[in-house]
Amino acid sequence: MLLYIHVPFCRSKCGYCAFHSEVPRGDAVQVYLDALLREIALWGDRLGRVPVSTVFFGGGTPSMLPHRAVATVLDRIRKAFAVERAAEISLEANPESVGTMDTLSGLLEAGVNRLSMGFQSMDPATLKLLGRPHSARDAVRVFELARTLGFGNINLDFIWGLPNQRLKLWLEDLRAIVKLGPEHLSCYGLTVEEETPLERDVRAGRISLPDDGEQGKMFIYGAEYLESQGYLHYEISNFARMGFQCRHNTGYWEGAEYLGFGPAAVSTLMGRRWTNPCDLAAYAGAVRTGTVGHEAEVLSLHERVQELVMLRLRTTRGLRVKAYRELTGRDFIKDNKSLIHALHRNRLVRLRNGYLSLTRNGLLVSNAILERFFSEMETRLAGQASGAPAGQGTP
Ligand code: SF4
Repeated sequence: MLLYIHVPFCRSKCGYCAFHSEVPRGDAVQVYLDALLREIALWGDRLGRVPVSTVFFGGGTPSMLPHRAVATVLDRIRKAFAVERAAEISLEANPESVGTMDTLSGLLEAGVNRLSMGFQSMDPATLKLLGRPHSARDAVRVFELARTLGFGNINLDFIWGLPNQRLKLWLEDLRAIVKLGPEHLSCYGLTVEEETPLERDVRAGRISLPDDGEQGKMFIYGAEYLESQGYLHYEISNFARMGFQCRHNTGYWEGAEYLGFGPAAVSTLMGRRWTNPCDLAAYAGAVRTGTVGHEAEVLSLHERVQELVMLRLRTTRGLRVKAYRELTGRDFIKDNKSLIHALHRNRLVRLRNGYLSLTRNGLLVSNAILERFFSEMETRLAGQASGAPAGQGTP
């Protein structure tokens, strides 16, 4: 089982962000922590100390929690679940909120063994434009401090396709990052989310983004550069030194069950899925009355197949063709024969050792390819019964 803790607080709101987070007011952090601890205990009682292989604090900005609070949450998790001795325990952090020796040492002592820091860019002007509350220099200082104190597994998040960014600037960023030597890099293409300040600026023409051709080069040349530096490109946006692939995210992509705690957290267990209330007061109320998870919905066969195809094709290993057969009783290659041929002719997919995967050029246009597969699947799977396992009540 994978555990995810959603921390819905940020120091300020970045101009491009559509995640569920807010600047905490009054006693919001305390209300959150009380409800979170109660929710963890509730699920521990319901499920009975099931084994846990990864814990991931995501957000929001989890590093806004005092490190003692992180320790208390982890203690509660260890009481409620059988956390494996070598479990991966990740925490997302923004450089400005973990910048002291006391905080970083406290997190290490609490058991956090993987730090994931949101750098986003090494260019001061870009960081300002994104509304990030830290400078590139501060970010590097915090990385070096974390290293000195003993963090041996650090991920850094970056974004490409940023306003005014060109290939040259992106490759310069990557060279500077590689010099630091993180074990893992997440490089996301910028998505302009609706109703964000960034979207309004782009729509009004105040900000211009690199065109598709330039963005394509950033993805392809960036990935080639990172591979040349010893980073394995193992998922569309993720690169790791050998042995440092994120176990939590890999489990999620491979369809492992996961429990999400906190407002807006999503869980998938025994073929059912639910999302906790987004609003903090509503979330705390649902935990108090013991009704979290009561809105769970059975995943239809169609949803499960779509998810299998979408998540696996985003990994460079690809979709195990047998996994599709196990779920549907059908042959994925035969079902999508002409589409796969066309993609293969254009060097967008490859079939190897029972896995269908997207090439790097294929990954670049993965959304369009997935849409084509989904529309084929809709026709083929129409009318097939729900594949939810039988005899399961509310988890
Ligand atoms: S720190 Fe992350 S979650 Fe918070 S506002 Fe910025 S992008 Fe969104």
